Amino acid sequence: MSAELDELYQSIILDHNRRPRNFRVMEDASSHAEGKNPLCGDQLTIWLKLDGNVISDVSFQGSGCAISKASASLMTAAIKGKTRAEAEAMFNTFHGVVTGAHPEDAEALGSLKALSGVSRFPLRVKCASLAWHAMHAALLRQDGAVAVSTE
Ligand code: ZN
Repeated sequence: MSAELDELYQSIILDHNRRPRNFRVMEDASSHAEGKNPLCGDQLTIWLKLDGNVISDVSFQGSGCAISKASASLMTAAIKGKTRAEAEAMFNTFHGVVTGAHPEDAEALGSLKALSGVSRFPLRVKCASLAWHAMHAALLRQDGAVAVSTE
């Protein structure tokens, strides 16, 4: 990755950390899930509103490192309006890229590609994946809270 691209990606992450999108509690959510990453101290809650099979709204709140917050913000922007299957497929693609298993899929990720650099830092992979694991848990369990750990 070139230095210019590194800088571009860093600015996307910093921007989403400073001004996270969809950062609010959702009162009328269909489901929610909490995610905790004890290794870093990241914790967040994801709320989903489902309209049939479509994720019509998604939000999050929590605290943690810049990577976990930026990843949650980018995730909410990416899955809003998508179907459950599309969101799960995006999670699989994202996971493959950040773990370094499928770096060739990074192009398909759009802005989320900004997080592909974490594949070089195993501890950071958990920070970047946390919001996605919580989103996945919220999709599976339509009511109540589940705690997910990325370990
Ligand atoms: Zn973290």
